Amino acid sequence: MSSRHEKEKAVNVQVLLRCRPFSEDELRNNAPQVITCNDFQREVAVSQTIAGKQIDRVFTFDKVFGPSARQKDLYEQAVVPIVNEVLEGFNCTIFAYGQTGTGKTFTMEGDCRKAKIGRNGKLPSEAGVIPRAVKQIFDTLESQNAEYSVKVTFLELYNEEITDLLAPEEITKVVLEEKQKKQLPLMEDGKGGVLVRGLEEEIVTSASEIFSLLEKGSLKRRTAETLLNKQSSRSHSLFSITIHIKEATPEGEELIKCGKLNLVDLAGSENISRSGAREGRAREAGEINKSLLTLGRVITALVEHLGHIPYRDSKLTRLLRDSLGGRTKTCIIATVSPSVHCLEETLSTLDYAHRAKNIKNRPEVNQKMMKSTLIKDLYGEMDRLKAELNATRERNGVYIPKERYSQEESERKAMAERIEQMEVMLETNQKQIEDLQENMMHSSNSLLS
Ligand code: ADP
Ligand code: MG
Repeated sequence: MSSRHEKEKAVNVQVLLRCRPFSEDELRNNAPQVITCNDFQREVAVSQTIAGKQIDRVFTFDKVFGPSARQKDLYEQAVVPIVNEVLEGFNCTIFAYGQTGTGKTFTMEGDCRKAKIGRNGKLPSEAGVIPRAVKQIFDTLESQNAEYSVKVTFLELYNEEITDLLAPEEITKVVLEEKQKKQLPLMEDGKGGVLVRGLEEEIVTSASEIFSLLEKGSLKRRTAETLLNKQSSRSHSLFSITIHIKEATPEGEELIKCGKLNLVDLAGSENISRSGAREGRAREAGEINKSLLTLGRVITALVEHLGHIPYRDSKLTRLLRDSLGGRTKTCIIATVSPSVHCLEETLSTLDYAHRAKNIKNRPEVNQKMMKSTLIKDLYGEMDRLKAELNATRERNGVYIPKERYSQEESERKAMAERIEQMEVMLETNQKQIEDLQENMMHSSNSLLS
């Protein structure tokens, strides 16, 4: 077993900044540029004119990706090492944080209209972090000839309700047509973490299998967006991929190494900076994004070393607790627009991201499991699922309240007793009839003779 109790080194959360190019709209309107990136110096400069005076502010990040940085550049420089650590047995999380329209989904998923993921194993240049990470994972595992298993989950968190983006179609239809979400509850897993009960865990055996799942999942998210009033700018999506790899020790013992990668596309940050000023009204309108607000508070509590960290106040922070001040390696990609029209939000994103650099985690490699222990765990899980399945089956069958059951049961018993009595009576009567018949025969015979 590894020396888990060694004091692990504290590591700061890695914070990257990405500034997208001008959009067609911004170009048409000749929007002035207020953001300048120096990727090499890892600096972002903001130029503002206040009362006729130009004021420049410069922020430094772990990495900076200006408007000309390609998907491939960001992936190779920032994500390849993270995925390698997942394959070494670490848990890692990447968050995309920023105002709506600045490229969070573009960074995490890619441009879905252009980046139709190829099934021939090639990725289009517009593909984002998720498909690239999936490809890297399978390419590495296959080249190592490893024995492994990979499973993925994909969920959306909106208004503190969790929806499974991988759930079968019928459920989505219900969601969209009746806005009746099949909500999934969060539960403690007994090991200090949480799990989402009923969340579809898809076991996948190839990258292309994940790609089609992803397509379905993000399509679901986009459909929901048009039908449910731009929901996606206020929802978070969490794609997780868990890898188990078999290893053999020199003594011939079989060990299982486990690593997990969480990829989070957060709700638009504008919901949060604006809500400060009109918190009361926003709360009434149900506009406050509790999870995003709590994420900010957790970050504040962590960087200011406050005693109480309010993880439990939202589902997002409960789900990703270990990524904030825990044993997970965490990276935040903050996204901004270069335009003057977004300046206020951009400054708020830059401040937020800059502050998040001070969060310290203590990354720790997951303890390797003996194969036999893992199998025992899986049997336990199977028993739990069987019990759940049985309970569900019973509810789908005949289901009556307990009182009615006992009333009907005693009626049934009384009835059975009466039937028994009647059967005895019947038997006695039959016997009497037989006796009478015999007597009758007897007397008619004696009459005849
Ligand atoms: P968000 O998810 O933050 O709301 P999107 O990812 O949907 O933003 O991006 C908004 C638009 O900007 C999309 O049309 C997207 O293709 C485009 N876009 C974002 N980032 C980039 C980039 N780095 N390069 C090119 N286009 C981008
Ligand atoms: Mg988006």
